[in-house]
Amino acid sequence: MSRAMTGASVSSAPPASSSASRRCSSWPTPTRSNIEPVEPTTVDLAPLLDLLRGRRLAVLTGAGCSTESGIPDYRGPETARRARNPVQFKAFVGDPEARRRYWARSVVGWPRFREARPNDGHAALAALERAGRALGVITQNVDRLHHAAGSRRVVELHGALHEVRCLACGAREARDDLQARLLAANPGHDARAAELAPDGDAELPQALIDAFRVVGCLTCGGDLKPDVVFFGEVVPRAVREAGQALLREAEALLVVGSSLTVFSGYRFVREAREVGRPVAILNLGPTRGDGDAQVKVDGRAGEALPRLVEGLTAGG
Ligand code: NAD
Repeated sequence: MSRAMTGASVSSAPPASSSASRRCSSWPTPTRSNIEPVEPTTVDLAPLLDLLRGRRLAVLTGAGCSTESGIPDYRGPETARRARNPVQFKAFVGDPEARRRYWARSVVGWPRFREARPNDGHAALAALERAGRALGVITQNVDRLHHAAGSRRVVELHGALHEVRCLACGAREARDDLQARLLAANPGHDARAAELAPDGDAELPQALIDAFRVVGCLTCGGDLKPDVVFFGEVVPRAVREAGQALLREAEALLVVGSSLTVFSGYRFVREAREVGRPVAILNLGPTRGDGDAQVKVDGRAGEALPRLVEGLTAGG
């Protein structure tokens, strides 16, 4: 198949760990340091339009789709180094101190994370679905911003931060409710921590972590975990299959804002190739899937997606 690479030249795959065991994810909390607005640029979308016009799309999104909503990614050029070090599943379930550290930081980061709002890219993808040109979104994001923008069929590969689940009995609780309980058990923690770590994602002083009291499941007292897939954890089979079904119903795959480093996302690019669906990528910078794509455009989602969707939906 011919390749029409556009925008910045496609470089080799990122120095990603391509290990299948690194198939899952966590997330950084919003920070001020790495959410600077990206300079507006206008990229040529003609190759994307040529490939995608007339085809019903499956869209695979990653953290780059939400950076313009103020939620940092892991591997973008602006990303702070500390954001690249997410908690591992094994450490979280096996080490009470890892859980304490996680929740002590999460209490600080959650208010800003939950307040993030969809950007023009999310809105454009929802419009594409409404127009019947996209079947839905498979997302690696845990921020629910596709739902907030009006997307109806959303496969959340890695879950969402808005609920927590008990590791012992499986009971669920809204993250907002847990936030209230954590703050009640740790009066003043958020204010003290925010003062010391104004970007919400900074390392907290050890003394503040040591003093933090973690609360347990309301039903059985067990340990709680955000209902997301951590690094080292497996995407539930039903979720993976829902994504595969969406891809197979579609006639092309559009990837937006993902380095495709995490295998649970890259899997869909591989699978698209296997089942003969063309792949297009819109991303700032290189991705692991660049060599698999028919078209790669180096562009900003919030700027390019509205124009792309306008082009794809023009003329009904
Ligand atoms: P990633 O950080 O590995 O890659 C993001 C890519 O998007 C980078 O290549 C970056 O250059 C690009 N990018 C940044 N801003 C962009 C923009 N405005 N337009 C277009 N491209 C842009 O993210 P990933 O591939 O999704 O993998 C990270 C994992 O971490 C995911 O699996 C996810 O679960 C989790 N995560 C989630 C969130 C979220 O929910 N918003 C945020 C960070 C990480």
